[in-house]
Amino acid sequence: MNGPSLRRLKLYAAGRLKLKRYFAHCGDGRSQPRLPAQALLWAMLAGQFLRQTAFHAVEAIARTARLRKTGIGQRFSDDALGYFTEHADPAPTRQALIEVLHRAKRNKTFQDSPSIGLAVDGTTVGRCSQEVCRWCRPYRNDKREIVGYRHHLAMVSVVGGGITLPFDVEAYGPKDSEYAAGQRLLRRVIPSLGARFADYVVVDAGFATNTFLHLCDELALPVVARLKDNLPELSAAVEKRFSGQRPHRVVKDGKTRIEIWDADDFDPWETLRWETVRVLRYRQHQPDGTVTQADWFTNFSKRQVVSLALYRMAKSRWEIENQGFNDCKTYQGLEHICHHHPNSLLLCWLLTLLALVISRLYRLRYLHRGTHPPISACNLVRLLWIDLGGPTPCASG
Ligand SMILES: [Zn+2]
Repeated sequence: MNGPSLRRLKLYAAGRLKLKRYFAHCGDGRSQPRLPAQALLWAMLAGQFLRQTAFHAVEAIARTARLRKTGIGQRFSDDALGYFTEHADPAPTRQALIEVLHRAKRNKTFQDSPSIGLAVDGTTVGRCSQEVCRWCRPYRNDKREIVGYRHHLAMVSVVGGGITLPFDVEAYGPKDSEYAAGQRLLRRVIPSLGARFADYVVVDAGFATNTFLHLCDELALPVVARLKDNLPELSAAVEKRFSGQRPHRVVKDGKTRIEIWDADDFDPWETLRWETVRVLRYRQHQPDGTVTQADWFTNFSKRQVVSLALYRMAKSRWEIENQGFNDCKTYQGLEHICHHHPNSLLLCWLLTLLALVISRLYRLRYLHRGTHPPISACNLVRLLWIDLGGPTPCASG
């Protein structure tokens, strides 16, 4: 059979995506390694591709499947993965993700899209009952009593380019915040990506503060941010003006009718170092009568970005929710704590993203040549299992 297989996926990653060097030098920090890091790293990625991400499941794949077919090449215990991930340097994995994005852009992966965005947002993962690591954040009930601990991270993803590629995370502990982690994340990834990689950053209202907006100015990255009541002056001015006006533009997006209001002469609030603020309001009318409305603000001028393009940039924020957090949690085990150690958690999160990026590029760009529709993520998992000769424990998706 000439269809997808773990071995072909490995050849694709090592060859087309040029990850061979990373596979050989993935940041192994063990003092006296008995097992090759490359085998453990590929085993964890293979577990992601097969949607079997718990360490004991990865170990079982290496133990029971035909090793030659998995590309793992070595049997090991799940303790080995714990020890490996505790000591691995996350920097090479982060760099590998950045290099894959550069390669994807050079290979015209995003060529059908007029602009490429970055979405930054935070999410909750890994719940536990005891405080174990420095990133455990207490979770309280209505009486403010601690009822457990959770982990939080900020994630950054390529959005608006026709393929969603989440590529880095920044964890934050009890005395930290999503907002601060999001800033650290942007400060790290923009210099590595290069200022010209992305055309904009899109964020929810929680990031719409002077510090974050000025950081984006410093990084030469235009911002598209949700406007909610946390900016009461601007919200009131927008409501006062737009509520009395007919929509400036009405467009059809599939079966949805969209009314758009767009004005670029709102006053910046006192401490914002922008000359003016542009606000876009859209009201979507679904065929079933559902109406949704949202306001967004930006420092793009109307000359730079027309109303409909700005509307699409705003909507691209949903990609990090749906194809980022949702897919990572539902199918890739992002919420599961494989080994409760901060470095191990971080490495598992980063490898989740790397596996997702490799499999999406493989499925949606490499396999999807010609006019046939792309195979679904679930079908790819099913085909990988069939190649291994095993049953297919695949949920839909
Ligand atoms: Zn913890």
